[in-house]
Amino acid sequence: MLENIRIVLLNTSHPGNIGAVARAMKNMCLSQLVLVRPDQFPHPKADARSSGALDILQSARVVDSLDEAVEGCHLVVGTSARSRTLPWPISEPRDLAERIYTDYAEQSVAVVFGREERGLSNEELQRCNLHVQIPANPGYSALNLGMAVQIICYEFHLQAIKASGGESALPGEQGPHGPGWDEPAATVDDVERMVRHLEETLVQVGFHDPDNPRQLMARLRRLYQRARLDKMEVNILRGMLKAIQQKVNT
Ligand code: SAH
Repeated sequence: MLENIRIVLLNTSHPGNIGAVARAMKNMCLSQLVLVRPDQFPHPKADARSSGALDILQSARVVDSLDEAVEGCHLVVGTSARSRTLPWPISEPRDLAERIYTDYAEQSVAVVFGREERGLSNEELQRCNLHVQIPANPGYSALNLGMAVQIICYEFHLQAIKASGGESALPGEQGPHGPGWDEPAATVDDVERMVRHLEETLVQVGFHDPDNPRQLMARLRRLYQRARLDKMEVNILRGMLKAIQQKVNT
């Protein structure tokens, strides 16, 4: 999916922004950059801001028109910080990424970004099948060009990770019940034994009065069930309880 997505920048005025875009793209595993009549390119400022993503800049295509930039694409997406006079199908970056994955995974997609000062013209936006807007402060919604590219490419990258079978983006993200955790998850009976051990200890130290229990144990049970403990954590907690009991009994 990511190899088929091209990032198109229209008439970018600051070469530094082109470098920032190259960096954002490379971070997120995208590589096709197309520049429509940039003011200054190549430029040392672009190289510097790319921070090592020079390969993206070196392979960037420089073209004369939007038509040329989107030639051969099956879907052209225009990005805009604000709604325009004529409503157009509009989406958020996450929905766009899902849609590309489900409907256009094998096809060529262009995402077009506008000028720093003026964005995309209405005519340019009307050349796009779909518009995408990054939700932002309604009174201050225009992001820096590089940052707008970063957010959109991040959603593409997350979607590509999910599509490649990695349910979770990072090992350990889902806690003890997900892949990549270092200890097996505790079972409900492990947790129940630990809670009973805790109850016994709390009675011994005088914190819990079984004749006036109120909701103490229910609340503690809810806390430990919610925490999705692993077996090692249950063992540590039970070891602590045992040490407290030994101290109380001596
Ligand atoms: N003053 C311009 C803002 C341009 S910002 C305007 O009002 O349109 C430069 C480019 O970054 C925009 O053309 C768009 O491609 C992208 N961008 C900035 N903020 C965005 C947002 N909130 N949603 C989508 N794209 C955005």
